[in-house]
Amino acid sequence: MECPKCSSTNFKLDRVSQEFTIGEKTCVVEGILAQVCGDCGEVLIGKEGNQYIDQEVSAFQNEGYLNRSSIIMDQKGIKAARLGEVLGLTRQRANAMIGMDVEVKIKNALSIAAILQEPVESIYSYRAIVEQDGKYYLAPLSQLLKLER
Ligand SMILES: [Zn+2]
Repeated sequence: MECPKCSSTNFKLDRVSQEFTIGEKTCVVEGILAQVCGDCGEVLIGKEGNQYIDQEVSAFQNEGYLNRSSIIMDQKGIKAARLGEVLGLTRQRANAMIGMDVEVKIKNALSIAAILQEPVESIYSYRAIVEQDGKYYLAPLSQLLKLER
């Protein structure tokens, strides 16, 4: 790999932060996996990094709630129709339940977690959106408790 800015090949895998304007807020997505040029600092974000950005932006748009079921189904090659069959749902109902919808019943969340063989909290998660110096961040609640101590 060659840096598009300085032609260096001295890249390092690192985690970076980027700012996005969502509504009228400046939201900071942290922990993005990226290749960073060791000579000029140019940041290259690949497919995995971009997918992560999409999901974090979705969490900002949904008040901190995130439903990763469609992402995990994609990764595992499971189709909504097949999930519907297993759950005894029509394809439309199955489609409505996955995607980015965060209004999922606990029963359905548990069924999907069991089918996908993933812990519920890796599929459905909630973090608080906190403001710091005029910018917004997604923070695990455990971290908030530490801050208040
Ligand atoms: Zn460079």
